Amino acid sequence: MKLPPVDYEAPKTVSEAVDLLAEHLDEASVLAGGQSLIPLLALRLAQPAVLIDINGIDELSGVSATNGWVAVGAMTRECIAEESETVAKTVPLLAAALPLVGHEAIRSRGTVGGSLAHADPAAELPAVARALDAEFVVRGQSGERVVPAAEWFEGFLTTSRRPDELLVEVRFPAAGRGTGFSFQEVARRHGDFAIVGLAASLTLSEGVISDARLAFAGVSDVPVRAVHAEDLLVGERPSAELFDEAGRRATDGMDPPADLHGSSAYRKQVAAALVRRGLRAAADNAYERQ
Ligand SMILES: Cc1cc2nc3c(=O)[nH]c(=O)nc-3n(C[C@H](O)[C@H](O)[C@H](O)COP(=O)(O)OP(=O)(O)OC[C@H]3O[C@@H](n4cnc5c(N)ncnc54)[C@H](O)[C@@H]3O)c2cc1C
Repeated sequence: MKLPPVDYEAPKTVSEAVDLLAEHLDEASVLAGGQSLIPLLALRLAQPAVLIDINGIDELSGVSATNGWVAVGAMTRECIAEESETVAKTVPLLAAALPLVGHEAIRSRGTVGGSLAHADPAAELPAVARALDAEFVVRGQSGERVVPAAEWFEGFLTTSRRPDELLVEVRFPAAGRGTGFSFQEVARRHGDFAIVGLAASLTLSEGVISDARLAFAGVSDVPVRAVHAEDLLVGERPSAELFDEAGRRATDGMDPPADLHGSSAYRKQVAAALVRRGLRAAADNAYERQ
């Protein structure tokens, strides 16, 4: 299907892009890798008057590490982040999730910022950002604002980015010693969106869990932290019984959406199984990273 007629702008700097956003507000869509936006345009599910193509803005791409954080520029292609040694060493949970995003061809165009701005609740990167309490840096004409992940995802395909703001960078905290990680998901085929996904991170200090982070994809209209299960885990030693109980706590009261891929009850059962699996893998990993 052909795209609807739309005006096209190709700014070369962030400030030009921000000026265009301030001029067109809700009438504009930012075009990053186009892997989600172009199908939405073709299907007439999005009908902006203006496309602001940010592919020519070099300052938006790249990965850098400073002061215990790794900053990923919004236009960094998913495949570049996937191949980054800095990401692999410093944010291994993000490195584990990236190869599960669609297929190689999609990741060669799709961007880290695009995935997080699109905010598909079944996507991998939003769950990683929520698990790690990532920070979202947005820029408007009046300057920069940093939004914590807990306040970024507001609803289905909806974030707290204002229409006049551009997402410029996402910062992830560096994993410390003794932090293990795992990204688990069940999908119909490799490359499909997850039916349920789980980002898990566990820190062991002298054999005791000192930090636990669990965030689900695909169980609600936003990525969801399993805080009751996290609270249960901290202060305990890893064991199969503990992880079983964490799976029960994480899904207690959960009411996932049903669709043609699975009922609500099926998703809930998968979520509990992923908690057990994810925690086992993260704990093994944490022992290796002591
Ligand atoms: C067949 C197929 C399978 C896929 N499978 C998966 C999968 O399994 N898991 C998964 O997570 N994703 C999947 N995707 C989506 C893919 O990861 C996309 O790359 C991603 O969702 C969007 O990134 P993009 O750079 O292409 O953004 P675009 O499509 O260009 O933009 C997406 C949205 O974000 C906005 N946006 C983008 N960048 C910015 C910015 N810097 N500031 C403000 N707003 C911005 C756009 O305006 C648009 O609304 C799949 C896509 C396809 C086509």
